[in-house]
Amino acid sequence: MSAHPIIDVSDLRLDYGGTTAVDGISFQVFPGEVVALLGTNGAGKTTTLDVLEGYLKPTGGSVSVFGVNPRTERARIASDIGIMLQEAGFFGDLTVLETIRAWRRFTPNAVGTDEALSIVGLEPKAKTRVGRLSGGEKRRLDLTLAVLGRPKLLFLDEPTTGLDPESRRQTWHFLKDMVDHGMTMLLTTHYMEEAEFLADRVAIMDHGRIVRHGPVSDIVAQESSARISLSASQGVSAQTLPPIPGAEIREADGRISLVTADPQPVLLHLLRWAEDNGAALQGIEVRTASLEDVFLDVAASGKVQA
Ligand code: ATP
Repeated sequence: MSAHPIIDVSDLRLDYGGTTAVDGISFQVFPGEVVALLGTNGAGKTTTLDVLEGYLKPTGGSVSVFGVNPRTERARIASDIGIMLQEAGFFGDLTVLETIRAWRRFTPNAVGTDEALSIVGLEPKAKTRVGRLSGGEKRRLDLTLAVLGRPKLLFLDEPTTGLDPESRRQTWHFLKDMVDHGMTMLLTTHYMEEAEFLADRVAIMDHGRIVRHGPVSDIVAQESSARISLSASQGVSAQTLPPIPGAEIREADGRISLVTADPQPVLLHLLRWAEDNGAALQGIEVRTASLEDVFLDVAASGKVQA
């Protein structure tokens, strides 16, 4: 790993009046890396991006982007940075082509119009008015404009929210291709699969703090528990199951989960109980914990362990 991070965040704090949105976080992003910020609504992800993009002044701590202060020395790094906000404002009456042309005028080093249209496959929509684009097509235009100036660093705030599963996957592949060509990315997302697909490292935020940080595989490996799950049915619910030593029993969305570090004896216990009580267990699954499980555990417990 290079000795010089592109993004360096040290003990960052950001208070909005009485609300502490970011509460002392530190992380770095190195050239060519993709880092994803995860966390529940209000965890502080967008605020962190806003500081790094130079829109907000930290209340405490420090941030640097390409080695400079992104707020006070923004002009020095602006052409190296692309930004895809959570919601972009477009002129609905302009066509996609006109929007790209307008953007090109004030984007140094912009790619050609045809190339811009092809980045995320917007050619068929070139003459469509932006106001008539679907949500997913608008997000693609957002992405096109964010990378128009061939930035070295891309900030993406929930880049695929609102997209259908196919468009989401397409966007992942577009982004992956950009990473393969050397782009560095910091993104926020609510999709665990997106983080697993794109990110070298993730940081899970909770109440303004980073509570888990590292490659997805490490974070999941640290979660030693496995999940035995089954469908709730007549006579089988979290209430009717007996206490099972070494397992925590939960029920949500019609599924019962037994969270345990040692699934074999727990499964045996469960099957014996079913046999003894004439209960038909349906939809049984046994699996190791996933990133989503870690996320849900963090969200449920509000744990704070930076
Ligand atoms: P989401 O996943 O919903 O986008 P987030 O993790 O990006 O959430 P932020 O938007 O950074 O969270 O918000 C962090 C906290 O700061 C929240 O409690 C939010 O209500 C608060 N907040 C955000 N913007 C402002 C603002 N302009 N003024 C006051 N409080 C704000």
